[in-house]
Amino acid sequence: MNKADYKGVWVFAEQRDGELQKVSLELLGKGKEMAEKLSVELTAVLLGHNTEKLSKELLAHGADKVLAADNELLAHFSTDGYAKVICDLVNERKPEILFIGATFIGRDLGPRIAARLSTGLTADCTSLDIDAENRDLLATRPAFGGNLIATIVCSDHRPQMATVRPGVFEKLPVNDANVSDDKIEKVALNLTSADIRTKVVEVVKAAKTIADIGEAKVLVAGGRGVGSKENFARLEELAEVLGGTVAASRAAIEKEWVDKDLQVGQTGKTVRPTLYIACGISGAIQHLAGMQDSDYIIAINKDAEAPIMKVADLAIVGDLNKVVPELIAQIKASNN
Ligand code: FAD
Repeated sequence: MNKADYKGVWVFAEQRDGELQKVSLELLGKGKEMAEKLSVELTAVLLGHNTEKLSKELLAHGADKVLAADNELLAHFSTDGYAKVICDLVNERKPEILFIGATFIGRDLGPRIAARLSTGLTADCTSLDIDAENRDLLATRPAFGGNLIATIVCSDHRPQMATVRPGVFEKLPVNDANVSDDKIEKVALNLTSADIRTKVVEVVKAAKTIADIGEAKVLVAGGRGVGSKENFARLEELAEVLGGTVAASRAAIEKEWVDKDLQVGQTGKTVRPTLYIACGISGAIQHLAGMQDSDYIIAINKDAEAPIMKVADLAIVGDLNKVVPELIAQIKASNN
């Protein structure tokens, strides 16, 4: 393998039912910065069936080019089908970097592709940069249970691969001037049904009505200090008067006080709301990893020395059982 043969930054543009996953657009935002540092093109790789309009959306979000693989066999995700198409494209065109969103699909696809291409993959990166001297990707992520932040380099193999969870990076503003049919290349595929060992018989969607905390502008998060499932109802009331939604630390999830989809942190979701109210959360590094980029943080904790108080813009030292009802009452009064 000659490293110099590999050029360009690619982002796997994940779509489901004809809708792009927001993490793919966020990766285009970061990918653009990486491509500029390397003076190369940023390419979105789109797989699916009848997904023409998505190519334009990808260009509007910063891609210089779209490689569109359209085929009936790609209508639903399959590890075999998607991995084959992407590996064939990588082998033919040799990008130096491939980013994938750390969604259920991305976590399945990324390692498969990396193993087939005999290259490295750094999962769940929290920051990405380029070493200007040797063009290596600097992929940073928590290591050893989150107690250490490690920067991982894949210096001997290409492409360099990384997955990133939703909410870590920001999308670029939409730029319709970047949309042009010339930038969309429909790629020829060497794919037959024999390449795909699984068959999608039926797609059954879980009827969950849990809010997406990654999209919320206001989050009222509770931790072990909330004390019980019943007490969480008070946080829900606070969230409601603020037009927000509840979230939780892992300790609260483990107590089964709320659904695990509401977990913020290293093994939960990364959020960046306008307002994050942390109630009875100590602020362990694994929790901070998921929320410290929030615009404004209020922490309510009876321990003035709790680590969360150091990242808070407003630290309220007190018993949340007293502070939260008082907040609700005052907000309701000011709304009237
Ligand atoms: P605690 O640390 O027990 O803190 C409770 C806080 O409540 C204390 O600060 C206390 O002073 C305060 N308190 C108690 N009573 C009151 C009251 N009446 N009023 C006001 N304050 C009160 N954690 C996550 O959150 N998200 C993750 O994604 C995550 N991933 C992890 C991954 C790994 C590999 C590991 C090892 C751990 C992970 N954890 C994660 C767990 C993390 O290390 C902490 O254990 C967890 O965040 C603690 O949750 P907590 O702050 O709710 O509880």
